[in-house]
Amino acid sequence: MDQKWKGGANNGISRLASCANTYATQNFQPVWYQGPPVTNGLEATNLAMDQFTQLIRDNGFRLASPAKIDYQIPSPVTSSTIRGETASRQTEVPLSFIINPTQLDRVDINSIVLTGSMFHAWLHRAGFQDPKTTSYFISEAPMCVTRGNQQKSGAVPDAAIYQFFD
Ligand SMILES: [Zn+2]
Repeated sequence: MDQKWKGGANNGISRLASCANTYATQNFQPVWYQGPPVTNGLEATNLAMDQFTQLIRDNGFRLASPAKIDYQIPSPVTSSTIRGETASRQTEVPLSFIINPTQLDRVDINSIVLTGSMFHAWLHRAGFQDPKTTSYFISEAPMCVTRGNQQKSGAVPDAAIYQFFD
């Protein structure tokens, strides 16, 4: 937010937006969106962060029904860590998600990967859609988070990260 706000000018480019702009090329728009076409990852990131502001506001002022964190082991078993349903409306959406407790027990899944997984789940709550593969906004933006917004190195295949998204 500080990077975008840029001391009040509000015309900065956040490191997250810059990273997502580099890698995301598809599915830039939430399902509820009806404005002019969103054509790149920079615009999509700014739209997503505006939508999170809306959701956090609605949740904080109790305009949404109470958000819940549930847990459920997927059947059949998957590598999913955190799952959020794609929301179809722009307002009054609870920031709920479902944890896979089996994956939380794994010591090899670190907190930054879980942060990316939660971001992926919340992008669904913001109305963005899968597939969660390379080049799609809902996958690339959370993968940027897991890399600290650094460039891809090639050392870690995308699938090694997005396997934990749902
Ligand atoms: Zn997903």
